[in-house]
Parts: sequence; C-alpha cells; structure tokens
Amino acid sequence: MSQLNSVNFIISKISTSALLLFCASSWGQQHLVPIAEETLDAFNRVTAYEKVQSSLQRIMERESDTIREQFRITEIPAPPYKEQERAAYFLEQMRARGLQDAYLDDEGNVIGIRNGTGVGPTFLISAHLDTVFPEGTDTTVELRGGRYYAPGIGDDTRGLAALLSVIETLSDSGIETIGDIIFAGNVGEEGIGDLRGIKAIFRDNPSIDGYVSIDGTLLRRITNGGTGSRRFEFVFQGPGGHSFGAFGRASAIHAMGRAIAKISDLETPRVPKTTFTIGTVRGGTSVNSIAAEGAFAIDMRSNDPNELAKLESRAKEAALEAVAEENARWNNGKIFVDFNLIGDRPVGRTPPESHIVQVAALTFDELGIELQELGTSSTDSNLPMSLNIPAITIAGGGQGGGAHSPGEWFIPLNSHLGPQTALLITLSMVGIKNVSPPLLTNLDN
Ligand SMILES: [Zn+2]
Repeated sequence: MSQLNSVNFIISKISTSALLLFCASSWGQQHLVPIAEETLDAFNRVTAYEKVQSSLQRIMERESDTIREQFRITEIPAPPYKEQERAAYFLEQMRARGLQDAYLDDEGNVIGIRNGTGVGPTFLISAHLDTVFPEGTDTTVELRGGRYYAPGIGDDTRGLAALLSVIETLSDSGIETIGDIIFAGNVGEEGIGDLRGIKAIFRDNPSIDGYVSIDGTLLRRITNGGTGSRRFEFVFQGPGGHSFGAFGRASAIHAMGRAIAKISDLETPRVPKTTFTIGTVRGGTSVNSIAAEGAFAIDMRSNDPNELAKLESRAKEAALEAVAEENARWNNGKIFVDFNLIGDRPVGRTPPESHIVQVAALTFDELGIELQELGTSSTDSNLPMSLNIPAITIAGGGQGGGAHSPGEWFIPLNSHLGPQTALLITLSMVGIKNVSPPLLTNLDN
C-alpha cells in the first residue's frame, strides 16, 4: 500500500452503526471494535459539549502554528541520551501554553499536569523527545517536491507538536475535567533508550490509570498490542596474540563469526511474528592480531512472550556451540562468551473491549478517519500494557514516511486530525465536570 493511496480513505467518512463499529479496509482486513452503550453515551456527551466543539475548531485554526512549531522542534537535535536541549525547549513551550508548573523529572522527561476536580482518575498522554539519529545529524527542514524533509520530522516531532496544540487548546477552553491529565515529552523511546523515559514516569507516578502515546504521522490504526523485544550484546573474549607468532590460538572474532553464521540460519514463526537481526559488530585490535575480543548486538522481537524466550535461548545456545567449535578447532582454545542484556521491552496488550480502544475507534469515526487496523508494534505503550494499565498508541496526524532514515519526510495534509483525536480521547477518558463521566477507572479507589 502506498502512502498516497491511503489519502482517500482518511478523507472519506464512514458511518457508525448502532452499537457495533465495524471497520473494514479495502484490503479485506476486518476488525470489530465492540462499542458498549456507556462508552457511546459518554463519548456523545463529550462531542456534543459546545466547549469541545469550539476546541476542535481552535485546533484546526491553529494548525499552521502547530506545523511551524513541529519544524522548530525538529531542528533541535535529540539523539538518544542527549535529549536535554530539546527537553529544555519543550518545557518552555509547555509553560508558555498554560502549564506553568511543568518540570523536568530526574530521568529528563518534561512533565506538565492539568488538574481535574481531585476525585477522578489520572490519564497520561505523551510523545517522545528522542530521535534515532546520532549527534551531528543535520536536521534542517527542507521543502522539496511538496514534501518537508528532515530526520525526525515525523517520528516523533509530530507527536510533540500535536501535544502542545492540545495543551494550548485546553488552556483556552474553559473545560473542567474530572480526572487529572499528565502531559509528557518523554525521553528514551528509541533503540538504546529502552523506554527509560516512560518506565521512569510510571515508576514515579503509580496513580496513572490510563495512557495514550502519540507517535508517528498517518492516522489509520490503533496500536493496542506491544511487541516485546530482548536485545543483547554477545561478547566473545580470549587471550589474543600476534597473528604470526601466536598462530594456533583461538580467535574471539572467528568464534563470533561462527556464532553469526549459526544465528543467521535460525527459523522463527511468521505468526506470532518473531524476528531477529544482528545489527552491529565490533572487535579486534589490529589486522595482525588474533582478536582478543569481538562483540555483536542482536535484536530479537516477538508478539508472544514464549516465542521470544525460545528465540533468546536458541541464540545463546548457538553462540555457546560456536565457541566450543572454535576452541576445538584450535586445540584447547580459551574463548568464552558473555551475554549482556542491553534492551528489554515487555510484551503487552490492551483488549479491544477496553474503553480506551472503543473511544479511539469512536473518535476516528467522529473525525472521518478510516480505522484500518488494530495494530501491534513496539512503542512507549508496551510498558503500561505489560502492567495491565489500559494504553494505546495513535499517530499525530499528517502524512509521512522514511521514519528512522535520513530521508524522513512529512506532508501536513489533514494534520489537525492528530491533535483533535488526542483531545477527544483524553477528554472522554478523564470526563468533563457536569457533562460526561470519566471512562477511566480510578485504580486507587
Ligand atoms: Zn516514535
């Protein structure tokens, strides 16, 4: 499916039928999000409220400012573990939009709280500050052939901009929510970040009852499943020595090569999707040395915790076998291998029957967005899902592509739908005083 084909489907409005929202894409993929009467009723109260209607209007009117803000933030680089400059800017923007008490937490997350009546649930909505791009990457936004190009322009700067639009709109709206809303620009979603930002937020705020992550651009799916991943560095070590003088000793790099060959041949199930790749290798001292050390980083993922565990043990066994073969080849070789865990994202799932998935589906319908699928991927939502806290990930609006590549691009087509979606989901979950009850259960009570 090309990105352009899907434009038609965003714009086309589909109708809600009685109590079942049936979403079928033209590719034959069908999903059923069962809508309970109480969800529909609460949602309808929210959308009928005139302050909500005028807020949706305001989001549309300020969308060009939102896009400008997105481009400004894109040009502040935020490599993993180096999100500080972008975080400082985002903190200023949160404060300027009405969250005067916004702060940086110990992990580096930007947090702003909009209080409700004090008796309601607590809802977290966030977008991630970090990008996958290393220090020194040029992130200047360039317009070419109708697309705006810059590394990180969509993932997840679009989410950050959408979040600021929601904050500003709520501040101007006069809407009093029942539950508290925590807004966050969080660190550490990508790669080696290992969800460190969202893990810290849930650790420090045990009162959070529900969560939505705004990540990426095109609105077409509700991500209600979290792909788990386990990442390791396999480190091979031995005595090493001169390539000529010490010839006959086992080599850490040769052992590593044997392990890579074995792991490359592993087979994994297509369903539940289970994958692996050795992403990087390092090691050696010089061309004329028997290597004393070699290491590779391996990423293993699955939508099923048992398959993930199985894959992990097979990869480790392959490495141990490789070491034994290398040691045997050189007669009493002294190579050994260590497995260092460098990434651990839990597997999780929010059931389609949960209020938050229903509300997201109703919101898509209300705004004329075709829901093409319920999806599973690896996002900040993995963590709350694994804690059985209702959580989903949705996109921030517009069109985009090339995420995680230097050719990442964005087109601001119907991008106002992102912040509008985030607003309707958030308000429905926390409830509005004298208008609608919260759909989120306050887990503390
Ligand atoms: Zn992202």
